[in-house]
Amino acid sequence: MTARIIDGKAVATQIRARTKEAVAKLKRAPALAVIMVGENPASRVYVRNKIRACNEAGIISIERHLPDTCSEETLLAQIEALNHDDTVDGILVQLPLPPQIRSGLVLEKIDPDKDVDGFHIYNTGKLVTTGGGFKPCTPAGIMELLQAIGYDVEGKHAVIIGRSNIVGKPLSMLMLQANATVTMTHSHTADLRRYTTDADILVAAIGKPKFVTADMIKEGAVVIDVGVNRDENGKLCGDVDTEAAKEVAGWITPVPGGVGPMTIAMLLHNTLISAQKRQGLSD
Ligand code: NAP
Repeated sequence: MTARIIDGKAVATQIRARTKEAVAKLKRAPALAVIMVGENPASRVYVRNKIRACNEAGIISIERHLPDTCSEETLLAQIEALNHDDTVDGILVQLPLPPQIRSGLVLEKIDPDKDVDGFHIYNTGKLVTTGGGFKPCTPAGIMELLQAIGYDVEGKHAVIIGRSNIVGKPLSMLMLQANATVTMTHSHTADLRRYTTDADILVAAIGKPKFVTADMIKEGAVVIDVGVNRDENGKLCGDVDTEAAKEVAGWITPVPGGVGPMTIAMLLHNTLISAQKRQGLSD
């Protein structure tokens, strides 16, 4: 079997185009505040990409760049001011933060109604209970990809490798809401292959290059590769050994061009939703 490729770039382009159209219909352009602390090179790239994507969609970006030595109080004061600024629809604090700043506390200080990253404990609670609130962008993007290929997860066995707060855990809740049977696995899981070889949908969110090998995949499974790593030659690669996996899987996301583009598309989507709510155009 040669797996069909899930083209995340194409799906993300469609979502971004739809978002841009909806933004143009608003009374006031949405605004997203992006706060970065320090000089982490990867964060710089992510922030630059997010700002560029905002501009393309007609969303105003407000960039706040604070020094590495910034105190927790200074950052919290910035967030407080943005919380009270009626022209701001979304607030995003780029992680990781320097060690003197408690990330958990910072995320909790963002107004949940402006928490377009979906990391606030209130939105996390909503995700687990009623299912409303802002959904974290990467897991929400994965659900969009499955929908785009017409794959109904209801009744399917979804196996997720990785239990981070930004990918694995929220994705498990979204899968559960969509009536999948979910197995969460992690670094302490005994006999991981036992679960992965039974997966109709296998999601790898580990951060280890080519960790998932072809013999871990069930024939015809949908394989979603969240990982962003460098291989031994410094080339970008995912958590799945894609070339070998293609011979077994039914569908597979490439790296790059799979899950990655969806994360930014969903951030723009969440910012639009926030602006629509704040302008009284949706509940
Ligand atoms: P993370 O916070 O580092 O979590 C990694 C998870 O993998 C942990 O739950 C860990 O288990 C599990 N794990 C590690 N080794 C394992 C093993 N041998 N067997 C089974 N599970 C194992 O990672 P993350 O933030 O979720 O990110 C994961 C990857 O996705 C990274 O490559 C990251 O760059 C990428 N990512 C991409 C996007 C995107 O937009 N494309 C977004 C977010 C993340 P324990 O909990 O037991 O330690």
